[in-house]
Amino acid sequence: MLGYRKALLEVHNASSVDGILLVDAKGKILSYNQRFIEIWNMPQEIVDTKDDEAALSFAMTQLVNSEQFIDIVKYLYEHPTKTSVDELNFKDGKIIERSGYSVIGEDGTYYAWSWTFRDITKQKNYENKIIESEQRFRTLAQTLPQLVWMTDENGAYEYASNQWMDYSGLDPNAADTWEKLVHPQDMESLMQIWTNSLLTGKTYHAEARLKNKAGAYRWHLVQGEAIKNEKGCIYKWIGAFTDIENLKEEQKQKDDFLSMASHELRTPLTTIKAYSQIIERILEEKGDVQTLGMVKKMSKQVGRLTTLIADLLDVTKMQKGGLIRNESVFNLNHLVAEVIDDMQKTIGTHQIIDKLDTDINISGDKDKLGQVLNNLLSNAAKYSPNADKIIVNTQVMKDGIQLSVQDFGIGISTAVQKRVFEQFYRVTGDNQSTFQGMGIGLYICAEIIKRECGKIWVESVAGEGSVFYVWLPVGDKKTVLLQQAN
Ligand code: ADP
Repeated sequence: MLGYRKALLEVHNASSVDGILLVDAKGKILSYNQRFIEIWNMPQEIVDTKDDEAALSFAMTQLVNSEQFIDIVKYLYEHPTKTSVDELNFKDGKIIERSGYSVIGEDGTYYAWSWTFRDITKQKNYENKIIESEQRFRTLAQTLPQLVWMTDENGAYEYASNQWMDYSGLDPNAADTWEKLVHPQDMESLMQIWTNSLLTGKTYHAEARLKNKAGAYRWHLVQGEAIKNEKGCIYKWIGAFTDIENLKEEQKQKDDFLSMASHELRTPLTTIKAYSQIIERILEEKGDVQTLGMVKKMSKQVGRLTTLIADLLDVTKMQKGGLIRNESVFNLNHLVAEVIDDMQKTIGTHQIIDKLDTDINISGDKDKLGQVLNNLLSNAAKYSPNADKIIVNTQVMKDGIQLSVQDFGIGISTAVQKRVFEQFYRVTGDNQSTFQGMGIGLYICAEIIKRECGKIWVESVAGEGSVFYVWLPVGDKKTVLLQQAN
């Protein structure tokens, strides 16, 4: 029985990744394994002599702090019921975790001490790197003007920069800190976006008013990014609040100015338009063809200006939520055909070819949807000066209908395709300055389509042409989407 135990102990000693040392009550070495020798860099001649004193003296030369080594040994000898775990720093850079405990004999006395030495250098270096990187992050966070924060995977606070605390005057540890900070009117939408991000892991992006310690609210951009481990699971959220109060104020001033300017411009323009029509009629009656030609050119430009101002007015109304939606049921193919007919009269350079699917009725804002097609067609013609055709397609799908406008013009590079739907965005580049525009047509289209619960997007190859797509939900799908939107 004893032989079996001894054999087991020997196998354990030999295969262990830890260095194991067993000493008797007087400190005399009873046994050790090969790993112990390796960890302590013990020369073979010392091992061979089995001289405890020589082994101990050599061991001392290996350590950065040999006093700590002795202190723990003494402590354990004096308190045999205790166990001890500490870290030893070796001069060669190794970090060894040492555990010691006493071995009780059958008569109840302590007769030996067992020491285990585990190499934890890699783990420690890894931990140190994490601490260092955390330190770097904190230093960076403190130097940024933004209010930086970090939470665990469930959104519970872990870190907030000094700027955060300076601004809010709150303790980020307190459970209801966030609720206290956010303007009550912004809370619901903020929580909705946050919950969605927690579920999907997608970047958190919202705008909200946050209260400062003086009690005043300022607009902030709230951003949060999920940090994932190697398995793709979120384990932290890191984010920042950026003060956009001044930006918002400037935006409002610009919107107010646009609104005021377009209103003011509309009235004299309507008068000019009315008078030019009267003049046209008089000249027609007189048969003054030459002057009539000039007035017609003038009328055309007045028409352009009227459209531009109407677009600007639409933009300002959209921002204020004041654009009225007139819903009716109509045949989309008929609307497409009407708009094409109208546009073909003004677009002399291109042939508009229609490839329309079966007729279906849809419900929506007919005029505004006509305006979308109008915009897409005039863009298609404008941005394909060397082409001579535009193709308009409708396609009935399971839950909706898709409309597309294809041109064979300058195209849009992939990098900016999404941006063309932003307000005032215009693609910049070598040839772009030759095309006139304000960068609001597609923004208006996107806003109109959003109100119809549809989608608008572009597929394009620079130099080859673009296809603008509009998808509109129909029937039950539209009802469900409209309910969700409200
Ligand atoms: P703009 O008045 O500048 O045409 P839009 O909002 O209609 O404004 O379009 C935004 C930008 O998108 C345009 O400035 C242009 O760079 C690009 N764009 C729009 N339609 C097309 C198209 N069919 N082909 C190439 N580029 C286009």
